[in-house]
Amino acid sequence: MAIATLNPATGEVIKTFTPYTAEEVAQKIEAAQKAFGSWKKTSFTDRAALMQQQADVLEKEAEKYGRIISLEMGKPLKDAIAEVKKCASVCRYYAENAEDFLADEEIKSNAARSLIAYEPLGVVLAVMPWNFPFWQVYRFLAPALMAGNVGLLKHASNVPQCALAIEEIVKQAGFPDHVFQTLLVGSKEVDKIIEHEHVKAVTLTGSEGAGAKVAEKAGHEIKKTVLELGGSDPFIVLEDADLEEATTFAVKSRMVNTGQSCIAAKRFIIVESIADAFLEKFKTKMAALKTGNPLEEACDYGPLARADLAEELQKQVQESVKKGAEVVLDGGQKEKDSAYFKPMILKNVVPGMPAYDEEMFGPVAAVMVVKDEAEAIRVANDSRFGLAGAIWTKDEKRGLEIARQVETGAMFINAMVESSPELPFGGIKKSGYGRELSYVGIREFVNQKSIWIS
Ligand code: NDP
Repeated sequence: MAIATLNPATGEVIKTFTPYTAEEVAQKIEAAQKAFGSWKKTSFTDRAALMQQQADVLEKEAEKYGRIISLEMGKPLKDAIAEVKKCASVCRYYAENAEDFLADEEIKSNAARSLIAYEPLGVVLAVMPWNFPFWQVYRFLAPALMAGNVGLLKHASNVPQCALAIEEIVKQAGFPDHVFQTLLVGSKEVDKIIEHEHVKAVTLTGSEGAGAKVAEKAGHEIKKTVLELGGSDPFIVLEDADLEEATTFAVKSRMVNTGQSCIAAKRFIIVESIADAFLEKFKTKMAALKTGNPLEEACDYGPLARADLAEELQKQVQESVKKGAEVVLDGGQKEKDSAYFKPMILKNVVPGMPAYDEEMFGPVAAVMVVKDEAEAIRVANDSRFGLAGAIWTKDEKRGLEIARQVETGAMFINAMVESSPELPFGGIKKSGYGRELSYVGIREFVNQKSIWIS
């Protein structure tokens, strides 16, 4: 894939970029390693001051960066601006908490004194996707830099201006040179970067395929990885749920980022006694959403990030319908080569259909009607993915009991799944491993060193 800015709302190629040569990449890795030598010795206070300045830049220039996001991947401008501001919040969170999270931990043992010390690893490579082109990067960048690591970013090929903007923001905030650098390279170059002796670890957010390739290479090189991959999150609605609220959030959670979110609700598992009422409200609210050009008009959802993603989603829908899924709300890709995709609701979705077995990375809701709570849990767990999920019930205790039985990295009761700086984020099964955010995330890329004093 060419490294280029292509406006998905119009199909226009705005700018193409020449990938960095192997020599340029090698120089940047060397520069990163050199920067690590002094960055790791800086105090938490100094790092925090720079991270707070970075938050200031993000907040002050949120609209400017939001416009780049919308232009490159098509999300409505208001959502892009909110994304940039959320990045400021994660910078502030780690600026305020990293020192506590990585403080020496005294451990009781047979030693006179023993402790765990948390030390940075060095150069960490981040392979990142286009769906939240700022947020996905910042939830790596903020903890990594606060821990004393230095970062290299290989961003998705369709968001090069976002990648360069982030490098520029780090510079503008006053961080030393080469503490965080963007590498404009295609995915074929990633293996060589992982092989480099200075690169100590890799984090990847993206598809299962990309995750498996990167983890394979990193495994061969004995380098630590964190993988944040796809999801097919269940959204369970029980008979005692507040249907008005549940359907409002069902729409929000399916349509977040025009459906292109790993933690979007994808499988709607509804108990049969309320299924008709749920579907009626869900359909009405979904059909009321407005689309448009994300940079020019207020709209609820924009195009998908690329026309090929719309085509792929259309194929998944067609295959599911061929196998018996019923269309409750019709939509889809209405024009060939267009990235626009109108929201859809499918019901009678069963195993063997892409809508049941695969991740639907766009505005298609798959509805499954179940007999009762036990069947809801069984269907929720009948997935290769295990990222997150939501349960709607007025009985909080019941919700908590079910939450413990669903095989995911996170469960939300009477709320839609969202990431926030305080809580660990990540999955099990094919959704990946390792965690981002919280105190757990900052400890992924550190040497957890045991020290024994006799
Ligand atoms: P990819 O997984 O291909 O892209 C994500 C990142 O990985 C990009 O930076 C990409 O670079 C890079 N990459 C891809 N293949 C390799 C490889 N073999 N080695 C190293 N790096 C690689 O996602 P797509 O854009 O193709 O989207 C396809 C599907 O992936 C979506 O429909 C969705 O299901 C899933 N996805 C999940 C995301 C999430 O948040 N979990 C985010 C994005 C996608 P390049 O762009 O240069 O190919």
